Amino acid sequence: MGEQKVLVTGGAGYIGSHACKALKQAGFTPVTFDNLVTGWRDAVKFGPFERGDLINKSDVDRVFEEHAPVAVMHFAALSQVGESMQEPGLYWRNNVMGSLNLIQAAVEYGCIDFVFSSTCATYGDQDGVVLDEDSSQHPINAYGASKRAVENILADFRTAYRMNHVIFRYFNVAGADPEAEVGEFHQPETHLIPLILDAVDGKRDALTIFGTDYDTPDGTCIRDYVHVCDLVDVHVLGLKWLQVGRGSRVFNLGTGDGFSVREVIDQAGHVTNRPVPIVEGARRPGDCTKLVSGSSRAVSELGWSAGRSNMKQMITDAWRWHQNGAYTK
Ligand code: UDP
Repeated sequence: MGEQKVLVTGGAGYIGSHACKALKQAGFTPVTFDNLVTGWRDAVKFGPFERGDLINKSDVDRVFEEHAPVAVMHFAALSQVGESMQEPGLYWRNNVMGSLNLIQAAVEYGCIDFVFSSTCATYGDQDGVVLDEDSSQHPINAYGASKRAVENILADFRTAYRMNHVIFRYFNVAGADPEAEVGEFHQPETHLIPLILDAVDGKRDALTIFGTDYDTPDGTCIRDYVHVCDLVDVHVLGLKWLQVGRGSRVFNLGTGDGFSVREVIDQAGHVTNRPVPIVEGARRPGDCTKLVSGSSRAVSELGWSAGRSNMKQMITDAWRWHQNGAYTK
């Protein structure tokens, strides 16, 4: 078979850049489409780069015409819970309208295998409920709502046009490429582990814990963390699943292990062997108390193994990247 190009939206971002590396290693050619609003040109290392914005349908059409991709992996999105509560319009426009343009173009160009990066934030705060793929979805922030809307679009396009989708609902993603070719770099940074590492090496004064009065054993929020390399590996498995005609499917991507904010801080102290300066602050609007996957569908059906997704490994890999890696515009 000749070259198989995969269109990777958001390929200049954290997860997308790792996905490009995994695709390349699996024999595909990743074509990055990114507007570089939050992504980095330097992170595009494994295939062609096309700058464009999903909001402009003509940009999207151009890349399908030029590259004739066999499939799409759609990562491009705004993804900050806090920001989504302050500027919901941004999230609906960018995440939903942009995705609609992309999905529409994919159908028009006959590119019907579509892998979508969704989120556990689509489930919302469901105390005591085991979150599996059949759990009801009640997002409590605009970010989760925007991702849920795109899932609905994909369901309708499947019915109407036989477009096939694999939807991955990620829990929290952490770590970095162990070879440190790519890594996590947001500006401004909002995610827990890189912020902890910033506090550890003095790039910021302290890590503020967002809320210490949650109904959890230590009062801080609990999340389920997955190593970015494990996460992108399963995207390649999802793509292959589609290519052999196994049809549309939703998969949670989490390990089932929950870590509180304080537990992550403690682990970071051990891994870096340095103190983590902290400040106890107020809750962040939109945060769920606990998000932990209760499903192993990705393991049983896709053959996924989340071998790097233990907290020590994730922080070790993040720390290595943190000390050496940075992108510039
Ligand atoms: N968090 C925190 N301080 C920070 C950033 C995050 O206490 O400066 C908490 C946040 O409230 C959540 C967890 O860390 O409970 C993970 O947040 P992150 O933004 O990394 O990911 P999210 O869960 O929003 O996708």
